[in-house]
Amino acid sequence: MFSPKKDGSCPTALEIIRMLKNSSAEDIALIKKAYLFAQDAHKEQKRNSGEPYFFHVAHVAANLAIINVDASTVAAGLLHDTIEDAGVLPKTIEREFSKEILALVEGVTKLGKIKYRGIERHVESLRKFFIAMSRDIRVLLIKLADRLHNIQTLEHIPEAKRKRIALETLEIHARLADRFGMGKWKAIFEDAAFPYAFPEEYERVAAIIKTKRIADEKYAQKIYRSIQKELVANGIIDARVNYRVKNLYSLWKKLARKEMDSNKVYDILAVRVIVKTVEDCYRALGIIHKHWRPVPGRIKDYIALPKANGYRSLHTTIFHGDGGVIEIQIRTEEMHGEAQYGIASHLAYKENGLEKNNLEKNITWIKELTKWQKDVAKSDEFLEHLKMDFFKNRVFVFTPKGDVIDLPEDSSTIDFAYAIHSRIGDHLSGAKINGKLASLETKLKNGDIVEIETKDSSSPKRKWLDYTKTTMAKRHIRGYLEKTSPIEIIAQKFFRRK
Ligand code: MN
Repeated sequence: MFSPKKDGSCPTALEIIRMLKNSSAEDIALIKKAYLFAQDAHKEQKRNSGEPYFFHVAHVAANLAIINVDASTVAAGLLHDTIEDAGVLPKTIEREFSKEILALVEGVTKLGKIKYRGIERHVESLRKFFIAMSRDIRVLLIKLADRLHNIQTLEHIPEAKRKRIALETLEIHARLADRFGMGKWKAIFEDAAFPYAFPEEYERVAAIIKTKRIADEKYAQKIYRSIQKELVANGIIDARVNYRVKNLYSLWKKLARKEMDSNKVYDILAVRVIVKTVEDCYRALGIIHKHWRPVPGRIKDYIALPKANGYRSLHTTIFHGDGGVIEIQIRTEEMHGEAQYGIASHLAYKENGLEKNNLEKNITWIKELTKWQKDVAKSDEFLEHLKMDFFKNRVFVFTPKGDVIDLPEDSSTIDFAYAIHSRIGDHLSGAKINGKLASLETKLKNGDIVEIETKDSSSPKRKWLDYTKTTMAKRHIRGYLEKTSPIEIIAQKFFRRK
């Protein structure tokens, strides 16, 4: 990720372009154009921090460039707030850039309207969030890059809002990043949000870690040098050995499971061994075990058996000879990249050495993402018990407040109105879809934002039955028609008089 610049500046177009691997002349021209366009569109606006608003979108684009997405996604990152916040017309984006970039920007704008509605509903909204975005995973990456910058600048947000944003980030954005194997983004989300979401717990963990870490760090420094030496002596000459400190939020979650006893957490610090090949991973494990006794039951082979999010590494915990234990993680450079940036880095490595043309590269990337998104959706714990074909015939649409309503395919605004409340259906008089007036029989599409207008004088019409899909809507319409039909009124009188 690109650390927010604190010196009163923002990433330049050139810096953003340099972060991208293999960019073509068109890519460079596109990013430069989007950069200047966004700079101009936001020129009157300021962030809460007092910085020019444009700084935000430049940081978002840099976050995206670093994970090596395609140039259209970086451009959309630069443009992502132009429609919502700078009043740029969608058709202008389409004319100046492309349909594809407009779709990305509009996708991000719509996602912004989905609000976090508390912990008890987040699993449900997360699941639907996922489905609604299944058309293009790049929208989600832009949204994550956007939140990444916002959460790192949370101190400038009014205090009352901070906690909500921090909780939302932990519950939604960090989880999504984790699900996509983007370990680095997950850790940034978590550690930036933690102090605002749970200030007391944060203080407590920070205090625990302070003493523990000073002691452990001494061992870590000693042992990582010894490991490096042993590896070289045994023929693995090009290993990179260093250590990492567990991020605070995940440490807190682990401590909470271990009665807050930091001596029961073995991976506060972990030594990382990065080697060239998979064979070297296993050889390095053997060399390490020959010199340091492993803790029984702590050897994990995530290379042969990767974690659900794709994470691969060998893990072992060793007695380091100074009376303590330390976790060692062994992986290749490719696995290391994947552990940080998920699929994006995976693709960058896959193309290693092969200078493919950019179009082909982008197509592969999008295909991979779509496939990957499907795999993720399939293996996702929320979705496990739900068949994909259930979703195939559903559309997910949103209320203006961001609540998700799911309906059968080909549902209309009439179905939508009844899905919210029968009284809203019964008095439906008009509808706006994505801010535009639409006829009541319009079929809704995934991701539409639907706004309903009601009038006391409005009532269901017989022809509505032809434009509704849900049994609920049909039942209410029929119920109303029967109640108000002349025959029914006569019948009612007749029976009442009986
Ligand atoms: Mn934004």
